[in-house]
Amino acid sequence: MDQPGLLVHQTVVATDGRVVAIGPAATARVPAGARVIDGRGKTLMPGLIDAHVHLRSADVPAYLASGVLTVRNMWGHDGIIRLQADIAAGRVTGPTIYSLSPGLDASPATWPFTQFVDDPTRADSVVAAQQAAGWTTLKIYWRLSAAAFDSIVASARRRHLRYAGHVPAAVPIQHALAAGMESIEHYTGYDRAVSRSGDGGTFGWADADTARFAALVDATVQSGTWNCPTMAINTMLAAKQGAEAQQRVVQNRRMFTRALHEHGALLVAGTDAGIDLTAPGTSMLDELKEFVASGFTNREALRLATVEPGRLLRVPQLGTVTVGAPAELLLLNGNPAEDLGTLRNPAGILLHGAWIDSLELARGSEHPAALPP
Ligand SMILES: [Zn+2]
Repeated sequence: MDQPGLLVHQTVVATDGRVVAIGPAATARVPAGARVIDGRGKTLMPGLIDAHVHLRSADVPAYLASGVLTVRNMWGHDGIIRLQADIAAGRVTGPTIYSLSPGLDASPATWPFTQFVDDPTRADSVVAAQQAAGWTTLKIYWRLSAAAFDSIVASARRRHLRYAGHVPAAVPIQHALAAGMESIEHYTGYDRAVSRSGDGGTFGWADADTARFAALVDATVQSGTWNCPTMAINTMLAAKQGAEAQQRVVQNRRMFTRALHEHGALLVAGTDAGIDLTAPGTSMLDELKEFVASGFTNREALRLATVEPGRLLRVPQLGTVTVGAPAELLLLNGNPAEDLGTLRNPAGILLHGAWIDSLELARGSEHPAALPP
């Protein structure tokens, strides 16, 4: 995913969770005792990264069965830390987890584990507590006052923490972009800015004034802020407004996404799986198809689930198959640049030193305990 085209007839050697050699199959030197996977007729690509999930341990096998080998968990809590530890120690076979902190929000809580910043003067102590707990990226949530948002940003900057999430309803999108949010989820903030009525959420996109897109795209590119638009779940949510309004929501968001892409804004693919709307794992294919419907090539869409979130997460070479990259690899029966549908049934995955074939992946989806540790 780091360069155009395909490398054909290659042998890839991985040791201790890293890719250590790539070369022509005819001349490659395979270490003695290595387990050899025959990839003839197949395509090897980096494991998929879902840039917006709410990870539940019961969903772990479903991610793997769809080739999602890394997740960005959007709301931290102790259970995530335990799961990270279990996966790192090999007690559980699961995706590599990067997680934001619990959400910083104002009362009343929308989700459990909310860290309240009702009073802006409390922001620094709440931010300090997240840092002490080991979180490096703060999750910003929607009820925060403008003053609380600014206080959190000031504290995070002093402490060299990153901050991402929802643009609070009280904060204009231009202000959030200028404030250095690392990523914005679901196009929060943009919705109210494009809406003729000033509505948020899907309602904002239903009556969008597309003439306002250009200035917002420019501000986004200037800011260097990432966007994770969670397209597929948004289409589901917009259904409540009726088929005709839903169609306008979908078309306007796709047009905005295409404009961001054409001007070089930073985008990643995320599904919001884990809140009982989009399915863990399989919904990544739905999300990629949304980007294709927005005007991306298959390959451009695949970048949003591999190398681009690797950059967002600041993990060197994550989302590529290159020497030194994490050996989180997906072997497919076809070429996903030609047919994204080939992602549906991976031939197998290489993850944390274990090769898991399609049969084991399917068994794991039905009986999580059946996955090899
Ligand atoms: Zn979410």
